[in-house]
Amino acid sequence: MAINSTFKITPSTNPLSAAEREQKLQAIQFGRVFTDHMAVVKYSNGTWHDPEVKPYGPLSLDPSASVLHYGQAIFEGFKAYRQPDGSVSLFRPEQNGERFNRSAARLAMPAIPKEIFIGAAEALVAVDQAWVPSGSGESLYLRPFMIATDPYLGVRPSNEYLFLLIASPAGEYFPQGLKPVSVWASKEYVRAAPGGTGEAKCAGNYAASLLAQAEATQHGCDQVIWLDAIEREYIEEMGGMNLFFVYRENGEPVIVTPGLTGTLLPGITRSTLLQLAGDLGYKAEERRLALTNVLQDIASGAISEVFACGTAAVITPVGLIKGRGFEQGINNNENGPVALALRDALLGIQRGTAADTHGWLHQVALG
Ligand SMILES: *Cc1c(COP(=O)(O)O)cnc(C)c1O
Repeated sequence: MAINSTFKITPSTNPLSAAEREQKLQAIQFGRVFTDHMAVVKYSNGTWHDPEVKPYGPLSLDPSASVLHYGQAIFEGFKAYRQPDGSVSLFRPEQNGERFNRSAARLAMPAIPKEIFIGAAEALVAVDQAWVPSGSGESLYLRPFMIATDPYLGVRPSNEYLFLLIASPAGEYFPQGLKPVSVWASKEYVRAAPGGTGEAKCAGNYAASLLAQAEATQHGCDQVIWLDAIEREYIEEMGGMNLFFVYRENGEPVIVTPGLTGTLLPGITRSTLLQLAGDLGYKAEERRLALTNVLQDIASGAISEVFACGTAAVITPVGLIKGRGFEQGINNNENGPVALALRDALLGIQRGTAADTHGWLHQVALG
């Protein structure tokens, strides 16, 4: 756990006072408030150098920096959780580090050593440990990202990059209580095509999703469901989350999620739930799911629940699927028992109230 020893620490000269910080932690607004510091690592001449934790603040970039023109940018998201004994643990950060490097490879960016990726999180969380909230459903959201900084308009991979890590306290995602969302199945727009960047967590994927999300909103839905690019029939994801369908086999739940075809983002929550299912005695399967069949199976009762999963909201039940010419309610628009059981089990491990039998927690040395 001495990974962070290489980070130079430059403390903020005007951090928020404890009272100001507590005030911000009272009414947490996700993604709007950031801790006093950030981690920065530079890349040039083929190496990462000058790892530093310094005061949070604006970056200075040349207007010709290639990220601003061609979008060579990737990111990750994971959380630090306050444990019952006051310590702080990260949830599966190695998984995010590995996915970050797969995203980097797809965007022709350099890989970042695990010691730097995880070391940045350890160093920043240690410095800003007072920002890790302890309330139910609360955490410190960590956002690592990498941008191309060459001041050059030619189209080629940049030679220089910045890796940054910022942190934002996250409150209970559903302050009014968990309730199902409605989704719009888009046949107009696609998120990812074979050979494209759908498997990578790159900034551009999100820019390209905004119009489809707006279309979903126009149809009165909370979120968009992405179908495959070719047949516009096979279910892939919901917004920025993966999807699960609960079938029943002889009355026993089988949780089914679309297989990773190359156009889905391989969610860490998704893979966590596939493992956790076994602990709860559920069968779990990955396979192709056609929208037409799914709608029939919901109508017939073969599918009893649908839910989405991701780091930010953990598990969100889906209560209604709409599209051009159809509308299908699910489980009377109520939270289903399987979604709730998986959610409780996962939150219990993350908060340290259930045994971490899979070794998913990574404790941070708070110094
Ligand atoms: C990040 C992301 C997810 C969820 O991944 P987690 O690792 O579970 O947070 C799902 N789909 C898309 C498109 C994403 O960008």
